[in-house]
Amino acid sequence: MSKAVGLLGERRLIPLRGNSQRLDGGAMFGNAPKALWSRWLQPDAMNRVPLACRSLLVIEPGGRRLLFEAGIGAFFEPQLKTRYGVVEEGHLLLDSLAAEGLSDADIDLVVLSHLHFDHAGGLLSAFAPGETPRLLFPNARFLVSHAAWERANAPHRRDRASFIPEIQALLAASGRLQRVAVEDAGAVLGSGYSFRLSHGHTPGLLMTEIARGPEQGPLLVAGDLIPGRPWMHLPITMGYDRYPELLIEEKESVLTDLLARSGSIFFTHDPDTAIARVAQNERGRFVAEGPE
Ligand SMILES: [Zn+2]
Repeated sequence: MSKAVGLLGERRLIPLRGNSQRLDGGAMFGNAPKALWSRWLQPDAMNRVPLACRSLLVIEPGGRRLLFEAGIGAFFEPQLKTRYGVVEEGHLLLDSLAAEGLSDADIDLVVLSHLHFDHAGGLLSAFAPGETPRLLFPNARFLVSHAAWERANAPHRRDRASFIPEIQALLAASGRLQRVAVEDAGAVLGSGYSFRLSHGHTPGLLMTEIARGPEQGPLLVAGDLIPGRPWMHLPITMGYDRYPELLIEEKESVLTDLLARSGSIFFTHDPDTAIARVAQNERGRFVAEGPE
């Protein structure tokens, strides 16, 4: 399922598949009509489109292992699992780590773009009847932005259903939660990393840019600013975005910058593409080129 897609010295970047989900296509494409979005992602009989929950494993030359995004995981009880279209059995992120010869205990740092359950649910152990979920990754520090942490602990009525309070409680109790600001990237991740914040999807969405050596441009782990290829087109937003007009402006700024530096995007939710280059087509629209 996974393969190394980039090298810098020996820095390895490995996309990992986690449990996938199916969500209402209309909600995923905001104000875009179905006649348009159904050309990009094929809806099922319930109007739901397939979405990956992909993580990025980075193995540093010195052996340090970083995980970006934790995906939806497998914590849902059976009824909720059905509602959110999580079909696979088991905790696929753990299976993907095992395929690399690793377990959750081998991860040193987990960088969370935000705490919506389809990005942080993978931190929890898989559902088992009568058991409370446990926090996995026993040796990792968990990085989240100040604003994303505050939002998760005091959500708005409109996005409350996107958070699982148990996750915040377990993270706080772990003693390994580290709230970060943009300027902390070098100190907490080391050289070759930088953070960007975006507030259009949710306050404090933390994106990480990873340097990839002279032949490859930088890679941006874009979180839900750009969840997959169709959302590269500037006007396309999600119904879940808090401030869609702000998001479009943030996306334009990020994509303009990445295009100028031959950058690429890591997509957490695209069903088919993990990494693609930022490009512009003949009409001047941003598009995903590749996959790499
Ligand atoms: Zn989200």
